[in-house]
Amino acid sequence: MTVSDPRQIVAAKRDGHTLAAEEVEAFIEGYTRGEIEDALASAFLMACLLRGMDGAETLALTRALIASGDTVRFVGLDRPTVDKHSTGGVADGVTLVFAPLAAALGLAVAKLSGRGLGHTGGTLDKLESIPGLRTDLKPEAMTRQVREVGCAVAAQSPRLVPADGRLYALRDATATVPSIPLIAASVMSKKLAVETDLILLDVKAGAGAFMKSPEDAEALAEACLGLARGWQRQARVAVTDMEQPLGDAVGNALDVVEAVEVLTGVHRGRLRELAVAFAARGLSVTSGRGLDAAAREAERALDDGSALERFRAMIEAQGGDPRVVDDPVGVLPRAPVVMSIEADRAGTLARMATEDIGLASGALGAGRMHKGDPIDPSVGIVVRCKIGDRLDVGEPIGEVHARDDDDAREAARRVLDALVMREGTVQPPPLVHTWLE
Ligand code: URA
Repeated sequence: MTVSDPRQIVAAKRDGHTLAAEEVEAFIEGYTRGEIEDALASAFLMACLLRGMDGAETLALTRALIASGDTVRFVGLDRPTVDKHSTGGVADGVTLVFAPLAAALGLAVAKLSGRGLGHTGGTLDKLESIPGLRTDLKPEAMTRQVREVGCAVAAQSPRLVPADGRLYALRDATATVPSIPLIAASVMSKKLAVETDLILLDVKAGAGAFMKSPEDAEALAEACLGLARGWQRQARVAVTDMEQPLGDAVGNALDVVEAVEVLTGVHRGRLRELAVAFAARGLSVTSGRGLDAAAREAERALDDGSALERFRAMIEAQGGDPRVVDDPVGVLPRAPVVMSIEADRAGTLARMATEDIGLASGALGAGRMHKGDPIDPSVGIVVRCKIGDRLDVGEPIGEVHARDDDDAREAARRVLDALVMREGTVQPPPLVHTWLE
């Protein structure tokens, strides 16, 4: 369909009408071809955000985004392929653990990842802190690696869903990110463009997530599932907690250190628990094993070193220094200043302004506010306290890794400001709110 005046489509949405699938597709096609300018596309996005989009409109938007670029098929793999994606959080290093863990369980993980933006971290930035490691894998190299190693984590090619790349930047610039249909279409277009047997989605809810409440996160999860169904693709979606950083490390090299500690079985806690939950779900859905048995297998693969060996093989295959697995602190870049953070009040930790902790780490140089900004892999924050912990004044609760003392002091202050204390006991939030299918 060609549109003689695309403003009519925007006006119809502005006035609260439901758009026909052809209208949504024609608009996105026109934008992709450069016939529709950013100004009109921004108005379209704002109209969609304010008026909402129903399931059919969201499906049409997703279809048009996918059609703007290439699709990827992994041919010749003899095991089930699984993709896992998080909507973004703080200290969310699940993919670093999940990919080798799932590979150790006999799944094939071919994962196209993104970079951190705003307060959230990105798997590619974390992995690239490993000296020599490359993430610009061609599809053939990626398939070969998945066949030989069981997992690969690479950058999304610019030819995959290019319309989403442009529209996402426009949404970022025009305050039109927090719309459930727009996020669902954006996330799922990238998942559906890559043909895997199972999509696992981690929709984060809470102070450190785009969706601040479990209810909004559940609505996003349902919208994503609706799209997977529309494509006849298998998906499982978890709504998980982001009221506090998931792991301890909020940075890049620091997250790799923590991931290695989880993969060696020495680090217990919420990061391990969530990686096990996703790996178990993937194994259970693709093999028919019961969830409890699959979880036990996943725990075993962490404790017996088989997941760690998959991680070593993945790092080596992507040109990284495999000694990172034996001596992460010795191999990874280190910040010149390490400053301890000590609690400045006594009480029970009741709440954490998690987004502020992510932003404080970003301000040290670990994150970026704009696409393409350089990052410093060595800097970041480690926060070891969790909601419900009882803290005493002066108690060490983590540390800042910074380029200089002033940066370190400022970040430590921001972390302490982000902690809300109370007297008495505080129930920690559940790690997983719900699983949807
Ligand atoms: N992640 C995406 O890929 N798209 C969004 O719109 C939000 C988070």
